[in-house]
Amino acid sequence: YWRDWSSDVCSSDLGDLSVRLPVVRTDEVGRLAQSFNYMAGELEQKLTEIKHSRDLLADNVQRLGDALQRTHDLDGLLATVCALSASTTESVRATAWLVEGSSLVPRVAWPPESLRSSAGRVPMKGTFLGRVVATGVPAWTGAPDKSASLGGPALAAPLQRGSDTLGAIVVERVPGSPAYSRESGATLASITGPAGIAMDNALLHRKAQRRSVFDPLTGVGNLRMLTTTLRAEVERARHFNRCCSLMILDIDHFRDINSLYGHAAGDQVLAGLAARIAASVRLVDRVARYGGEEFAVVCPELDPAEAVAAAETVWNAVRNQPFEVDGGSIVVRVSIGVASWPQQARTSTALLRAADSAVDEAKRLGRDQVVLSERLSD
Ligand code: GH3
Ligand code: MG
Ligand code: MG
Repeated sequence: YWRDWSSDVCSSDLGDLSVRLPVVRTDEVGRLAQSFNYMAGELEQKLTEIKHSRDLLADNVQRLGDALQRTHDLDGLLATVCALSASTTESVRATAWLVEGSSLVPRVAWPPESLRSSAGRVPMKGTFLGRVVATGVPAWTGAPDKSASLGGPALAAPLQRGSDTLGAIVVERVPGSPAYSRESGATLASITGPAGIAMDNALLHRKAQRRSVFDPLTGVGNLRMLTTTLRAEVERARHFNRCCSLMILDIDHFRDINSLYGHAAGDQVLAGLAARIAASVRLVDRVARYGGEEFAVVCPELDPAEAVAAAETVWNAVRNQPFEVDGGSIVVRVSIGVASWPQQARTSTALLRAADSAVDEAKRLGRDQVVLSERLSD
């Protein structure tokens, strides 16, 4: 609880500290009055300081609370944590470092521009910051350290999730400033403690979000990403009076690949194919896994002829080289259906249907080819 004793002391029934006694005599009473005035002045100043730090504390608790709510935004969370860490420990700089393998990488800093002057990747071994991360205990140093670019006193506290350390916050003062104390360490830890838990939430959220739009086997988008992207791109094409094309690609006789080389090798082909498709289309094209062994590519701005050319590039990239898997080298052939908005469909779902039908047509015509959808389906 917080008892507002400073206002009690200030209230009139306990004495008004702004009152000063007249010092008109030079004897003991006069000196007493002088001492009283000095003491009242000191007390008044102390009270002002206490009020100020109370306001600062209340403000910081509020900001920490707000920051910890930002569980969907890791960098935003760390930015607030850095700003808070600097202000509560009377530091000029705070940097959030994250563990990456056996090193630490600066991720976010306050003030933001100080991130550029930081050293970059720092090894865990032999650094003061690495020790904080390894032990999970706050530590301070006056000696120059790779993780403290100002060269003055530095203090670090770990960002932890359970027994795992995700990184650390380092605060710094300019050279020549007073060193950090044990209390500063405790203060910083009282911020980094809850921050670590909030970070864990943010990381989990990010992982879940990734999982919700990416296919885990191939790393390209999943069906949800495909439908979302396609809808958005068709809408954009409609709004700006542009084209948008879609290709759907189905592996020929994939069942045979599975039965000849095994399901695991089949999976490797799928992953390799996804990578090869992604490498042979433009950066603005979005690749997604459409079904078991079918992929789709959304191609903004491409008209039917350009989309066919793009599909032929992919088709060639697949044919030109077999896929190396654990069981050997596998020759893969694909059938690709192409459809464009507005030439072959009026909506994004109709565009999917049109490209699907074009794949069926390619299979019917003997597989291993690119077919452009003919009809305008609704
Ligand atoms: P077609 O030329 O007509 O396309 O013949 P296909 O054998 O490729 O037949 P289809 O397109 O219907 O492919 C279905 C096969 O894809 C059957 C299924 O075992 C395989 N498949 C689907 N998903 C996966 C997967 O994730 N991994 C592996 N290894 N195989 C898969
Ligand atoms: Mg299929
Ligand atoms: Mg197939």
